Amino acid sequence: MLNDDYPDSDIKAKLEQNLEFVRGKIIKALDRCSDPGREVTLVAVSKKQPVQKIKAMAELEQFHFGENYVQEGLEKIRTIDDSRLKWHFIGGLQSNKAKYIPGMFCLVHSLDSYKTAQALHKKAGSLGLVQHVLIQVNLAEEIQKSGVVEQELPGLAEKILELENLSLSGLMLMPPFTRDPENSRPYFSRLRNIKDHLEQRLQIPLDYLSMGMSQDFVQAVEEGANLLRIGSLLLGTRPGCTLYLSNTNLNP
Ligand SMILES: *Cc1c(COP(=O)(O)O)cnc(C)c1O
Repeated sequence: MLNDDYPDSDIKAKLEQNLEFVRGKIIKALDRCSDPGREVTLVAVSKKQPVQKIKAMAELEQFHFGENYVQEGLEKIRTIDDSRLKWHFIGGLQSNKAKYIPGMFCLVHSLDSYKTAQALHKKAGSLGLVQHVLIQVNLAEEIQKSGVVEQELPGLAEKILELENLSLSGLMLMPPFTRDPENSRPYFSRLRNIKDHLEQRLQIPLDYLSMGMSQDFVQAVEEGANLLRIGSLLLGTRPGCTLYLSNTNLNP
């Protein structure tokens, strides 16, 4: 079902099939939850994917896209130039690149430092807008991953609240790599808990839990996610990447 090499004319049909598959799985997962009315936004992760596929997805009314690299993202946004599209920045963000984000990306999922927050705030202020951000949490404390460790989260969140051109809108998580999506579940439920506690502590609602990728989005939805970041399952494998999927998520 994954789309590596196929003729251009078949791209849209293939993408439509992938979209229907993923949307169907989301609806079924929501049916198993206690809050089936939850609104879930599907972000198609388009890093390293050609513009042509993004345009085809937009024709299928998939409007949210996620990019990991500032330069690549900006080029695509400018090339495609379609105001219906909503761009999410989901990759590691250094403070020196932060100035390129406000006005271009509706939501940063991966904020993890005060320095970057200040740079986003400054640029957003100069444009007269508010940048929505999520804090990425590194629950497993993996050294190679972006994100703050759990103990640093409340402190960073409180400092972000003081920056009036930023709006703290939730949390994001990338669990440790695994071939069994059930291994991600405890991280998902922990992040939901952490969000609930943070809302109480800060006395503000946090709208988004960004968690769940191609291989574990079903578990993420079951544990409360409302922003899914799905790449290869929708758009095909990226150059140099292998997709591992368990049978649980491939059986409709
Ligand atoms: C690449 C990426 C994804 C999507 O990964 P897939 O396995 O292709 O679904 C999601 N989130 C982040 C932060 C990523 O870098």
